Amino acid sequence: MAVPQRRTSKTRRDKRRNSFKLTVPGMVKCDHCGELKLSHHVCKSCGHYKGKEIVQS
Ligand SMILES: [Zn+2]
Repeated sequence: MAVPQRRTSKTRRDKRRNSFKLTVPGMVKCDHCGELKLSHHVCKSCGHYKGKEIVQS
């Protein structure tokens, strides 16, 4: 069985986890209200999409 020559150090391990995505992929900041929203979807909090208000709040 293959055994790693060197154990990953705490620093290397934590560095890797530090860059792990904290948000769901496909989430972007709304350019109108700044809330996190799904990309290519109308913003849930302000109802804007592509700079226009689609859903009246
Ligand atoms: Zn918004």
